[in-house]
Amino acid sequence: MEKIRTLRGFRDIVGEELEKFRRVEAVFRGHCGILGFREIELPVLEKTELFVRSIGDTTDIVEKEMFTFTDIGGDSLTMRPEATAGMVRSYLQEGLHAKERMTKVFTMGPMFRHERPQKGRYREFHQIDVEVFGVKEPLVDAELIWMIRMFLGELGVEKYRIEVNSVGCKTCRESFRGVLVDFFETRKGELCEDCLRRLERNPLRIFDCKNEQCIRVTGDSPFLFDSLCGECRDHFELFQGYIEDFGVSVETNKRLVRGLDYYTKTVFEVTSDDLGAQKAFIAGGRYDNLVGEMGGPATAGIGFAVGVERLVMLLAPLSGKTEKRCFFAHVGDQARGRLIPLLKASAARGINLLYSYEAKSLKSQMRYADNLGCGFVLILGDDEIQKGVIVLRDMTGKTQHELPLDPEKAIEELERLNGL
Ligand code: ATP
Ligand code: MG
Repeated sequence: MEKIRTLRGFRDIVGEELEKFRRVEAVFRGHCGILGFREIELPVLEKTELFVRSIGDTTDIVEKEMFTFTDIGGDSLTMRPEATAGMVRSYLQEGLHAKERMTKVFTMGPMFRHERPQKGRYREFHQIDVEVFGVKEPLVDAELIWMIRMFLGELGVEKYRIEVNSVGCKTCRESFRGVLVDFFETRKGELCEDCLRRLERNPLRIFDCKNEQCIRVTGDSPFLFDSLCGECRDHFELFQGYIEDFGVSVETNKRLVRGLDYYTKTVFEVTSDDLGAQKAFIAGGRYDNLVGEMGGPATAGIGFAVGVERLVMLLAPLSGKTEKRCFFAHVGDQARGRLIPLLKASAARGINLLYSYEAKSLKSQMRYADNLGCGFVLILGDDEIQKGVIVLRDMTGKTQHELPLDPEKAIEELERLNGL
């Protein structure tokens, strides 16, 4: 029969990659705790409308990347492609806007986008997502970037660039739209088909195109950054000042836009050349209109998402095994009777006691222990029981000790002798 495999772009995460995932999550939780962020878990499945309204119906994500389906009840549902929309929904649903002046939250988990799978780009991938609601001041923009730097520092990631830009507010964007359309009209012949559509519907999106020729055209275009309104300009300048105070180095990239419509003012992206084509592994920005547009009171917001798969690719190999393990080779019924007490005593001390489930010869058990990479073995047979000992043998055969038969005492002695 044909074997069933994972869906295209979906993966099992195992072994060292999974260990790195867990390390990233643990380090991040630590930083979030110190900085006063609360963790929340969000549903993976939401009403399609949530994403269409928040992300924007002319974005790549909504136009062509969502896993959307109709359920048995006839409702249109979508597997979340990102976390901010759900965060905003939850913030409003839980009434947090009425309960606290400022809300700092984070979540982690799988996201789904129907993209062409390649290295660093999957249909199911994982994000760590951080959001702050209720703070207009650019101090928090800088604080988040500082937080990212601390987090990467602790993970030992050093080679990366932080690019920042401002995408302005509705006022700046409306007055700039005409300028942009006029420019791109003169270069229409060089744009890809997607960008021709973007030109009609949402010309700023052209900056997000990955097509080389379009990138060349946008290089000559006027930048929104140069036509920001007074308020947005001030915000950006203050932000830069705070960034300096935090001592983080960032580069202003006037081309930088984000693939979601809800961003306003500050946007940023963290990239690494070590990642190949999919360079960005953290991205975020401010979204001061989103909570209002989602039916809540006007509330500022800012956040970022870490692409965990891409970040994990940048981590150095994790140093040595920390697992404490030992093999228990036993022969005969009496010895087998000692297995469960020994197992319980070792688990209580955080030691993984390995053994053969079936009764096997000593020789075969020793081979098995070797295959499992155990450096030493506890041996128990009728002779040992008679003598009232458990033998501890080093796999190289150089040293041998006698441990007490009592399970607790034996494990205690084992730990002492082997520095487990
Ligand atoms: P890209 O330009 O690579 O498509 P994006 O702008 O669509 O990224 P965001 O929506 O900003 O990405 O998501 C934040 C981060 O999540 C990205 O920087 C990236 O690290 C990660 N990410 C996004 N899409 C994928 C994917 N399909 N597979 C793996 N990681 C992804
Ligand atoms: Mg994308």
